[in-house]
Amino acid sequence: MMTALDSPPVGVVLDDIVRNHRPRSAAGSVPRGIPHLSSPPFDRFGIAVATTSGEVFSSGDADVPFSIQSISKVFSLAMALGAGNPDALWSRVLREPSGTSFNSLVQLEVEHGIPRNPFINAGALVVTDHLMEKSPDAAAEVLRFLAGQVGHRNEGKGPFIDELAAGTELAHSSRNLALAHFLTDFGNLRRPAQAVVENYVRQCSIMMSCTEVAKAGLFLAQDGQGAQGTVVSPSQAKRICSIMLTCGMYDAAGEFAFRVGLPGKSGVGGGILVIVPGECSICVWSPRLDSKGNSLAGTAALADLSDRTGWSVF
Ligand code: GLN
Repeated sequence: MMTALDSPPVGVVLDDIVRNHRPRSAAGSVPRGIPHLSSPPFDRFGIAVATTSGEVFSSGDADVPFSIQSISKVFSLAMALGAGNPDALWSRVLREPSGTSFNSLVQLEVEHGIPRNPFINAGALVVTDHLMEKSPDAAAEVLRFLAGQVGHRNEGKGPFIDELAAGTELAHSSRNLALAHFLTDFGNLRRPAQAVVENYVRQCSIMMSCTEVAKAGLFLAQDGQGAQGTVVSPSQAKRICSIMLTCGMYDAAGEFAFRVGLPGKSGVGGGILVIVPGECSICVWSPRLDSKGNSLAGTAALADLSDRTGWSVF
């Protein structure tokens, strides 16, 4: 870990990260089956750091809203756990890395409808179903939660659901619907499969900037304390971070832990949320993806940032 004397200010480091990691070519891929994510400018790159001492640093396209996609799974899980009775949820979804892609069907069939973890699509569908028991419009609840953490409560400002994008993704959601029907068949979904997938896709279609995602994730670096008070207990915050470390990057979780050494959660919109417990919450965004669906430039930037700052859980 660098000391205050030998480390350059965080803002200077972030500017340098943007200079070095903003893509210069259209390497990598864009997600199949999500039409509105098929043609983002390849050279978009933003990064933001929200610290536990209340500062926010950012650089590059850190204030451009992007589709948070699977980063939403962290927030819906936290809401489900924070609402009480975590055992009811943990009897329906495990905490093991899957070693398979985020939307794989195979494991779910073999393992009798109990998803490996809440961050693969099958697990997130169960979490959404759990949230829908209390509030049928769970996506709106997640959005409200995010707006509260970010500090925007006015119409037209802050996080929003891109309903048009959600609609087009829904029209291409055969695989998520298949997962939901499998879950129903195994007795692990209570609401109709179509309604759960619809709600899940709307959560994934929430638009936020790097600055907003970093602020929203800060409760995980602060023992569960968010902008409006307790989100989850310290023990639950620790556990959510543990699942991020082991399962947050799908079948690249091991490689990400090796390169970055921090709990993270990616989305196919090109965003990655990373937590440095006790220190800060980081969000990086660059839209082109590696073969596992994680931001190519974003992962490289986080590996560099962790090496330069010493931010790591190891
Ligand atoms: N909405 C996407 C899906 O369900 C989210 C995937 C992701 O970000 N990994 O396929």
